[in-house]
Amino acid sequence: MSLAKGCVLCNQGAKMVLFVTGRCHRSCWYCPLSRERKGTDTVFANEQAVDIPAQIIQEAENMSALGTGITGGEPLLCLEKVTEYCRLLKTHFGPGHQIHLYTAKAPEDEELAEMQGLVDEIRLHPPRECWETILDSQFLRSAKQAKARGFDIGIEVPALPGLEYLVPALPYLDFLNINELEWGESNADQMRERGFELADEVHNAIEGAKGWAEKLCRYEKVHWCSSAFKDSVQLRERLKRIAHNTARPFDEITDDGTIVYGIYEPESGNASAAAAFFAERFEPDSYTVLPDKIETAWWLLEKHADELKGKKYVIERYPNGGMMVEMTPL
Ligand code: SF4
Repeated sequence: MSLAKGCVLCNQGAKMVLFVTGRCHRSCWYCPLSRERKGTDTVFANEQAVDIPAQIIQEAENMSALGTGITGGEPLLCLEKVTEYCRLLKTHFGPGHQIHLYTAKAPEDEELAEMQGLVDEIRLHPPRECWETILDSQFLRSAKQAKARGFDIGIEVPALPGLEYLVPALPYLDFLNINELEWGESNADQMRERGFELADEVHNAIEGAKGWAEKLCRYEKVHWCSSAFKDSVQLRERLKRIAHNTARPFDEITDDGTIVYGIYEPESGNASAAAAFFAERFEPDSYTVLPDKIETAWWLLEKHADELKGKKYVIERYPNGGMMVEMTPL
């Protein structure tokens, strides 16, 4: 199987996801964009909102990124921003920093010219209504022009009935990626209207989606990306990279790439007064004193819980101040 270069890095969790805009010229019924992101112009590097471009480099550094995937919304609606960020990334990390761009437009040759040398791989997302006539579509014209300009070029679509119509395009592509159709808060009503159901209670995959792609998977250029794989491998590997770069000495890194630590909130509300207890017993790098709390190794907090008056709990969260997963009081 020939995997897109961008996918190889994604599988290692080494790709930063750069979301450049929530605006889009299309309104696909299956659009997975969250309500918070849809229609906005906020930029996100992985899950971090970006105010200034330097934060993009910081996030890429945090995860030792080897590449970046540019997504949206529709990235070509803000091409200037895309080229600015790509230039920044290529200048900072070198030309080997692999960049792929996802687009639901068929890029014009002038747009391809602007991205040349900055974007390495383009993933076209032709709308379902043009799959039957893909060979006569603008997308195929763009694919040929992109190839001639030296881009790696592929199609990336969600698994929907009718995927077989894309087979005639394969000779013109480097790859065809099929993403398992995913249930989300913003497309749930549309899914129900069409009679789709969740395959199980754990993942967001749709019952039957794999079957629509199965026949195509025998083609060498076709790659199936399951919802479970995205969660269990790509995300976990990315979190681990971030955790190893950003964890404090007392944070425990789990096999899922989350971090676990303990929090002590003294009854008095004054952490510096309580800090003497820690200073007498523990190594300086096994805790940190904040104005109203002390953060430390969860096992140290558990061991000394009875000697400390106030609230004590163990936190599991995504690394680098990311989303909270679980809070367990001691
Ligand atoms: S092209 Fe992508 S971002 Fe735009 S509406 Fe369709 S799924 Fe959503």
